[in-house]
Amino acid sequence: MAMRWRRLGPNRADQASRYGSRTTLHIRPRVYIRGRDIAVIGGGIGGPACAIGLAQNGHNVTLYERASSLESVGFAFRITPDSDLCLKYLGIDTMDGGAVVANTSRMMDYKGNVIFENKENTDSEKAKKGSSVFAYRPHLQQQLLDRAKECGVRLETGVKVLDVDVDEGSISLENGSKATADLIVAADGVHSLVRPHIVDSKKYFPKVSTGHGCLRFTIPKKPVLEDPRASQIVSDDFRMVSMRGNDRAIIVYPVDYDTQFNFTCTHPEKLSRAATEGGDLAEAVAYNHKISPEMVLEMYKEFDQRAIRFLELADPHGFRVWKLVDMDEIPRWSAKRTVLLGDACHPVLPFGFSGASMAIEDATTLAALLPKDVGVEQVRERLDLYEQIRRPRVERVRESSREIARGREEKQFITEYRAFLTEHDTVECARRAVDEHFGKE
Ligand SMILES: Cc1cc2nc3c(=O)[nH]c(=O)nc-3n(C[C@H](O)[C@H](O)[C@H](O)COP(=O)(O)OP(=O)(O)OC[C@H]3O[C@@H](n4cnc5c(N)ncnc54)[C@H](O)[C@@H]3O)c2cc1C
Repeated sequence: MAMRWRRLGPNRADQASRYGSRTTLHIRPRVYIRGRDIAVIGGGIGGPACAIGLAQNGHNVTLYERASSLESVGFAFRITPDSDLCLKYLGIDTMDGGAVVANTSRMMDYKGNVIFENKENTDSEKAKKGSSVFAYRPHLQQQLLDRAKECGVRLETGVKVLDVDVDEGSISLENGSKATADLIVAADGVHSLVRPHIVDSKKYFPKVSTGHGCLRFTIPKKPVLEDPRASQIVSDDFRMVSMRGNDRAIIVYPVDYDTQFNFTCTHPEKLSRAATEGGDLAEAVAYNHKISPEMVLEMYKEFDQRAIRFLELADPHGFRVWKLVDMDEIPRWSAKRTVLLGDACHPVLPFGFSGASMAIEDATTLAALLPKDVGVEQVRERLDLYEQIRRPRVERVRESSREIARGREEKQFITEYRAFLTEHDTVECARRAVDEHFGKE
């Protein structure tokens, strides 16, 4: 599956011209080039994606993840064609991990009236490159980690990074050991340990007070489709149904080899605060807060009865609630040879279906800018270029997600946002930027 990327991969004479090293010859002498030593912190989504891309280029990559297993990170997200295309470059087909193609979606108000319907993946040629799919997070994460291993990434799981020294390029681990690297990539999520080493953490931190809470749960498909009321809302004709209004939304789509429905239900955060209260910041926004079925039914009681039926069919012990966060633009994404990606540098509200996609795009861009023969002294300039390429795109995504969160839902705005998000070739964009920056050879 690593088709196009392999074509651009290590030991190919065309790699330098495509991805940038303007100081090397077109036809390289057959000498052994050792890749850079790179430490990636975070085995979520962006971390392993970046580790794969860099290892495919021929770098020596070690990935540090504090969790020793993936079981705690459930639920699903939408992967848009832009990031599906990146995953293909990285040798991953989400369909092998049980993702479900998202061909059709329907937007309704909370009383069940249809507002508009949308078709996706309609252009079969484009869809071959990258499709809109619903992915179950543990499956995608497993695919990423398996692929990373296959590419030679050293996986250090159950290892927490306690500190980084940006000047020295070193990281200190919980087990007492220390590692140094030519480059540290921090993909350590919204509560990044590394970010405060790059920007002032008193000024730049994730905002817990976005005012939005999010309820998540899954239900096996069969009982929903057999239920006379619930089945009127979801059917195989509409892969995603989004019901919005009254400050709340219920979004449902199939995942896990098309065997389960995943529900993402937003609401004013104050309504679920009793379930999320307490603990420090990280604790307060963690995703595993249980919430009672009574509270859930109370929050969504104004919704159409057919939607309320979903809540009645769900496992009453399976409801989990989040406080949603995002963060204002930070002034820099890297310092010395340490760079941030994904939620560590730009967490966004999930209303635009794009946080994981942005992390995957960041990862792919970084890999595209750092060929095997990149000199240590060239890394700094490449990190600046990475930020230049990525910043305008994630800014628009953040602002659009905020607007959707505020209730903006007219068709033209949503259609334009989707086109902006999905019609993007990350590698092509990095290649163009390299050509513009370094000049064509
Ligand atoms: C309700 C909700 C719905 C969403 N829906 C969508 C959607 O439909 N589409 C979409 O694209 N995105 C969606 N997202 C966003 C998406 O989940 C995130 O943007 C994405 O997971 C970010 O990936 P990441 O790799 O940057 O960070 P993460 O996935 O958070 O990974 C960070 C990793 O770093 C590890 N880590 C942290 N600190 C350390 C340390 N000190 N040492 C070692 N390891 C460490 C963590 O254990 C974790 O595994 C949604 C988010 C939420 C909350």
